[in-house]
Amino acid sequence: MADNADNSFDLVILGGGSGGYACALRATQLGLRVAMVEKDKVGGTCLHRGCIPTKALLHAAEVADEARSGNTVGVKTTLEGIDMAAVNSYKDGVVGGLYKGLQGLVTSAGITVYEGEGHLVGTDAVQVGDQRLTGRFIVLATGSYARTLPGLDIGGRVMTSDQALTMDAVPRSVVIIGGSVIGVEFASVWRSFGADVTIVEALPHLVPLEDEVLSKQLERAFRRRGITFKLGAKFTELTQDDDSVTVVLDTGEKVQAEVCLVAVGRGPATDGLGYAEHGVSVDRGWVTTDERLHTSVPQVFAVGDVVPGLQLAHRGFGHGIFVAEEIAGRDPMPIVDTTIPRVTYCDPEVASVGLTEEQARQHYGDVDTFEYNLAGNGRSKILETSGVVKLVREKDGPIVGVHMIGSRMGEQVGEASLFVNWEAYPEDVAQFVHAHPTQTEGLGEAALALAGKPLHVHA
Ligand SMILES: Cc1cc2nc3c(=O)[nH]c(=O)nc-3n(C[C@H](O)[C@H](O)[C@H](O)COP(=O)(O)OP(=O)(O)OC[C@H]3O[C@@H](n4cnc5c(N)ncnc54)[C@H](O)[C@@H]3O)c2cc1C
Repeated sequence: MADNADNSFDLVILGGGSGGYACALRATQLGLRVAMVEKDKVGGTCLHRGCIPTKALLHAAEVADEARSGNTVGVKTTLEGIDMAAVNSYKDGVVGGLYKGLQGLVTSAGITVYEGEGHLVGTDAVQVGDQRLTGRFIVLATGSYARTLPGLDIGGRVMTSDQALTMDAVPRSVVIIGGSVIGVEFASVWRSFGADVTIVEALPHLVPLEDEVLSKQLERAFRRRGITFKLGAKFTELTQDDDSVTVVLDTGEKVQAEVCLVAVGRGPATDGLGYAEHGVSVDRGWVTTDERLHTSVPQVFAVGDVVPGLQLAHRGFGHGIFVAEEIAGRDPMPIVDTTIPRVTYCDPEVASVGLTEEQARQHYGDVDTFEYNLAGNGRSKILETSGVVKLVREKDGPIVGVHMIGSRMGEQVGEASLFVNWEAYPEDVAQFVHAHPTQTEGLGEAALALAGKPLHVHA
């Protein structure tokens, strides 16, 4: 526990996850004195229970699939099995290494870290243990928790992503309630590890927030991979015994499996922390802010998952940097959710930024779109992946949405993000030469086609 003589700071940050620590690092760069209160481990959900451990599992899953399919390219391989203890040790090693690095960064930046559970006890004060920390500004960054549904009690064979990340064996079969990002990522991992997987999604599509073309392509790919999914089906009841869980759907259908993963979204971790009591306006637990992340109390800001919108680590980083610069009077540009890239790391990967076609039509009326099929992309053919790159432009205007699916598409979202955030016209970016053979040519081909000069595309 840090011990600061007068316990007064420029900035007191409650929560040391992606949003909180990014804010702390940027604020110290700007010469501010910063206290950060963390009840668990600096790095938060993303580093310890989210982005990083899940992506390590997905990489192990990819290696398993490669071992299984070596013969398709003439390399003799077989998959002997999955050693979950070794997979977990690899995953934990990745997390541990990054955690060590982050702790080093935080220490060398001169951030004072208070270990323990903090509460807001005034509009300028946080209590942690027997210490009262005061700040000219307070930043609420307490993140989110895995939600469940009424009648779905977590325990035994029913788990959230928190428990799923620490399983010591591959389940024979899994039923996943929720077909959005977390649900499809675990479905992908477990299927590659050999489990029978069934996803139950209440909405009409998997990854329902994405452009429909990506949902449909993912459903086709998952069907080919033997992942079962029930769309437009709602969970009504769950029972478990020593051997299995049985999930009953509103259609009357029953799904039995060894374990159940509940992946129905994440709620704001704000309960009992004194926010509303001190005038911070809270709506169903979410901290409401204006576009400059000010809460209803002028000197209190909020960042990351507690603020309604996209729940992504890099949104938290962006928010954190923004608030530090705002406090330091740098007049930064607000972070707008539609400009934030999104990647779902299942196989095949789904990556997007900007508006879906439907959203763009609602916003602009008339739009043009082009879908480039990866079947014509040499590198994708070599990698034996299929998928599409879809561009959406305002009629005769800039690109307002990019939507991609296929192996490794997440790595291209940076260029896609530049297209959207620089409000690029297809005619401008079509001039950029893309290296051959790379999957980035998919973006180039789509831009060329929208600019009226398609290359490897049938007219
Ligand atoms: C399984 C899973 C996979 C994910 N994958 C990705 C991904 O691939 N890419 C991506 O961008 N995002 C991903 N996310 C989302 C990402 O983890 C979150 O968006 C991000 O962690 C939010 O950052 P945050 O700082 O708002 O909250 P958090 O990271 O949750 O940090 C909040 C911190 O506050 C601390 N805290 C809470 N209350 C108190 C208190 N009273 N006192 C002191 N400390 C407190 C917590 O211990 C925690 O460390 C994933 C999430 C999950 C669950």
